[in-house]
Amino acid sequence: MPVTCTHSERPVFRSLLRGARRRCPACGRGRAFRSYLKPVERCAACGMPLGQIRADDFPPYLTIFIVGHIVVPLVLFSEQTMEIPLAVQMLFWPLLTLALSLAALPLLKGAVVGLMWALRLRGGDEQPMAGKRRDLP
Ligand SMILES: [Zn+2]
Repeated sequence: MPVTCTHSERPVFRSLLRGARRRCPACGRGRAFRSYLKPVERCAACGMPLGQIRADDFPPYLTIFIVGHIVVPLVLFSEQTMEIPLAVQMLFWPLLTLALSLAALPLLKGAVVGLMWALRLRGGDEQPMAGKRRDLP
């Protein structure tokens, strides 16, 4: 790791919660994101390099999993118990899915970044497979 880390203790649950609040998982004071999903290079409060942590596709996977498990039962329940016109359903369910996804994705990305920080993972080229891929022709 090129940067010396002064945070020897990294409680997983606390880091995950701080990340979900979109705060630095190390100190909890600085912002972890400079825009909707773009992490800051370094925490403004403690200098922790958060820009090196690559969550990749895990936050979208979690978002799809969670939102799907909320929306699909609601669709099935409403179909069984109510008589909502099809045109209303075709407008409502996609909008609900979009709104829940847009709300959940930044929280889940923050939580994943916090979890990765606690576990000392950076993603990207530190993964074992990445080194093997470079050796391929
Ligand atoms: Zn910090």
